[in-house]
Amino acid sequence: MSYAISAEPLVDIGANLAHDSFDADREQVIHRAAAHGVAQMVITGSTEDSSEKAARLAQQSEHKLFSTAGIHPHHAVDFSVQSVSVLKDLLTLSHVVAVGETGLDFFRNYSAPSVQQKSFEAHLELAIELQAPLFLHCRDAHQRFIDILKSVVDHLPPAVLHCFTGSRSELHECLELDLHIGVTGWICDERRGTHLLEIVGEIPKDRLMVETDAPYILPRDLDPKPKDRRNEPMYLAHIVNRIAQASGQPASLVAQQTTTVARRFFNLAPIKQEALS
Ligand SMILES: [Zn+2]
Repeated sequence: MSYAISAEPLVDIGANLAHDSFDADREQVIHRAAAHGVAQMVITGSTEDSSEKAARLAQQSEHKLFSTAGIHPHHAVDFSVQSVSVLKDLLTLSHVVAVGETGLDFFRNYSAPSVQQKSFEAHLELAIELQAPLFLHCRDAHQRFIDILKSVVDHLPPAVLHCFTGSRSELHECLELDLHIGVTGWICDERRGTHLLEIVGEIPKDRLMVETDAPYILPRDLDPKPKDRRNEPMYLAHIVNRIAQASGQPASLVAQQTTTVARRFFNLAPIKQEALS
């Protein structure tokens, strides 16, 4: 058995390639992704250090890799006034294309909700000041998340809620705020993702993007399952196939549309060749 390959170039808008689980074989991971149709990736920054590491990785990549700069709600406790200037410096680089990830995660509350909110609001302020796209995270915090976004909606730059896992009504509240939606392999999870199969077709084509969130959220229906359970960007085509089935469209069309949206959203520079195989 082998994994799905996309004939159309894909963009993985959320890959945590700065994560230390990729330290030993990052080059091979990037090469495998390209061989499976992933032409470009946006590396997620989730702390000051990982945002810097992500920017360094993207810098050497000739427009194949880009990065975000932000502090994940889990790490909001580490957010300080100095963080803003670190992130702001990174965002002056042309390959650092979004503020985030930022948002709220009340599932684990590694940082207290009030601390998360403060960090989230500072990220919003920064994105508004720079008019940079926002890469957002929300788990078990929908109402507070929506309320905070509503308070700044008139100034909000383009924003994507990555790894959407919510309900139909939550989806439509996000769409009413003009959010883009990122779909991961959560949609492949027969225990907790089946509702996404029913609603993914309701996301307007010009607002849907795809991502792996690697090394997290390994699609549960991969065959064979990788022994180390680590998710990789190479599985993005598998996720696209699942979205295509669920929304009754050819996978090539979903690939084309999500790539067009991602390149416009993050304003990605064109690449010389679509995939390195
Ligand atoms: Zn996230």
